[in-house]
Amino acid sequence: MKKAGSLIRVAVPVPLADGFDYLWDGEAAAPLPGTRVEVPFGRGHRIGIVLEHPAESGLPPEKLKAARRALDPEPLLGPELLGTLRWAADYYQHPIGEVLSHALPGLLRKGRPVEAARGPTYRLTDAGAAQAADALRKKAARQADVLEYLATGARSIAELRRTGATAATLRRLVELGWIEAVPDCARAGSASAPQRPTPALAASIAPAFAPPPLTDDQRNALERIRENGKPAGACLLYGVTGSGKTEVFLRLVAEELAAGRQSLLLVPEIGLTPQLVARLEERFGAALAVMHSALPDGERLAAWRRARDGQAGVVVGTRSAVFAPLVRPGLIVVDEEHDASYKQQQGFRYSARDVAVLRAHRLGVPVVLASATPSLESFHNAKSGRYRLIEMPRRIGAGGAPRIRVIDLGRHASRQGLSTPLIDAMSRRLANGRQVLLFLNRRGFAPTLFCPTCCEVEECARCDARLTVHASAGELRCHHCGSARRLAWACPRCGTERAAVGAGTQRVDEELKRLYPDERIGRLDRDATSRKGALGAVLAEASSGNTRIVVGTQMLTKGHDFPNVTLVGVLNADQGLFGTDFRSDERLAQTIVQVAGRAGRRDEPGEVLIQTQHPGHPLLACLLAKGYDAFAELALDARRRAGWPPFSHLAMWRAEATQRAPVAAFLERVRAAAARASHVKVLGPAPAPMERKGGRYRMQLLLQSRERPPLRALLADLVPDARGWREARKVRWSIDVDPLEV
Ligand code: ADP
Ligand code: ZN
Repeated sequence: MKKAGSLIRVAVPVPLADGFDYLWDGEAAAPLPGTRVEVPFGRGHRIGIVLEHPAESGLPPEKLKAARRALDPEPLLGPELLGTLRWAADYYQHPIGEVLSHALPGLLRKGRPVEAARGPTYRLTDAGAAQAADALRKKAARQADVLEYLATGARSIAELRRTGATAATLRRLVELGWIEAVPDCARAGSASAPQRPTPALAASIAPAFAPPPLTDDQRNALERIRENGKPAGACLLYGVTGSGKTEVFLRLVAEELAAGRQSLLLVPEIGLTPQLVARLEERFGAALAVMHSALPDGERLAAWRRARDGQAGVVVGTRSAVFAPLVRPGLIVVDEEHDASYKQQQGFRYSARDVAVLRAHRLGVPVVLASATPSLESFHNAKSGRYRLIEMPRRIGAGGAPRIRVIDLGRHASRQGLSTPLIDAMSRRLANGRQVLLFLNRRGFAPTLFCPTCCEVEECARCDARLTVHASAGELRCHHCGSARRLAWACPRCGTERAAVGAGTQRVDEELKRLYPDERIGRLDRDATSRKGALGAVLAEASSGNTRIVVGTQMLTKGHDFPNVTLVGVLNADQGLFGTDFRSDERLAQTIVQVAGRAGRRDEPGEVLIQTQHPGHPLLACLLAKGYDAFAELALDARRRAGWPPFSHLAMWRAEATQRAPVAAFLERVRAAAARASHVKVLGPAPAPMERKGGRYRMQLLLQSRERPPLRALLADLVPDARGWREARKVRWSIDVDPLEV
């Protein structure tokens, strides 16, 4: 056995087991956990991350290979973040190497040094320090900004650029003798030590910003969250759209910044919330770092680095930003906490919301979950006292809550998805110069191509699904596997002209153009926004008021604030009413309340019209008559009786292959193995809701337990075993702990 300290256990990004042991025989001491190392792997080499220094290895000494080199002079991941990631790997039963690699920007995964590409760093000269920035401000505001910024310490050119300083301004200041480039040697000492945001820094980089005076609800919410912060706990900020929730957590973020601490703010999708990002920029200026997967590699690394060295006092990002490195964390906020995009649905299937709560707990900082439609899990946690519940039931302004009316599609004529009462209401609002939003969760022209002679519907050859008609592109497309073929109206069997049945957003868009030829109409769905920049353009046109009617899918429900909208139409509420999934009720209620929240201005109440074939459906009736609270209580009752989460814990074991038999055989073996465990119920294997997708057969097995420990113990036992099974070689399989869809 090798001596302790000369062995390192390394997480390598491969879908295998846990860590791999290597010898460390370098001159220097073995690199600390969290450091990147290059190690021989298979026939090549890989970049991995040191997990620990094991006392001994399970491998005989002659089998151990030596690590080649360390890539970082000090650990890339601190103990807290490494610990959180190891917890997540364990909890979600995902290989640690892939988990760590998910948390790192691509350039770091590839071995790029963490340090910025070095441009010059500037500092104030004595003459510059003596300049009164206030006096200068009138003549040369840009120059004054730079002097003020540098008064807090030397800054790299990249940082200066982010504050808006141009090369010309910097050149001019050097000429004036007020700033100078710092020589390399002077920089070296401070570069590696993480810089902390100081109160002075925070003040200097946030431009003067006067937030609005708080409403009573906001003041109350802030007080209660602050109380809950000592000792740190979780809060559910449950407030209707427009109640001022965002303002509440922005205040908290500002307080943290002033105290020199960082805040992590998670949002569902950056592209869909440009207004929030603009608000953050306005308020926090250069202290803001934005992290999301669409960023170019270089920017992503830069944001990561600024979070890690503390220059970013506010980190805003999507799902994977929950793993942002933080040097002085003070607060975590999860906005729209109910949003399904917090759950990664492939590979490392984790819930960023749940990880955020755990991470805040490990860090000892408060976490705020905010939503107008909390997930039933969070709602339950709040009602049972695990989270503090903070409610903001009133909208700001005199507009008040929107009026909701149901339109019975059985009683009113409709054309391409638009009923007569809805069209009347639209015409009235448009005549008053207002905007209208129409929600339809179905893109394309029509969801079905039907032959009236053969009574056949055109289906995807690779999926158990209908093909959607995309009339303008002249294609039939599968929304599940992405395959497409040319649209032919004549039936291939009998030659009859076929009909496009039902309406998607494109068809509604066309109908609107026919009804309102003089109005600008915008479409917000994946087809209309796939080109780069198109999404931003559609949103900007809508928020400026140029677009008078916006028809869109789920994308409409996210946090936009179109100030002139006074009417929202839900074209088809029935899509979610009869879902097979135990969460379909919850999703429908959230969607309806979220789109309804887009209606109404500060000074004018909004109206929401909901079209349905089933106006008497108990869920709809409860939601519309009594609101989301009452719905949530009712739905939780149903979950309790049926034993679904949050009253039980689930793990979904999925498998797929081009043939059905090996899938069944594999899951059958899982079932047999799982059946031995006590306190865990095994349901299945059964075909997936869409059994064939993309030419592969898919089946699933659900594991369910009342308490979490028996389920975790079973998975910990079974998953490593299953990786070695003969049956596992013929299928693709995955584990989904706390699945969103079953
Ligand atoms: P929510 O996040 O609950 O939807 P916001 O914080 O975005 O609410 O506030 C809704 C609107 O009201 C925004 O336009 C915001 O600028 C404005 N607002 C928020 N707080 C106040 C306040 N205290 N006084 C006046 N306007 C406010
Ligand atoms: Zn398909």
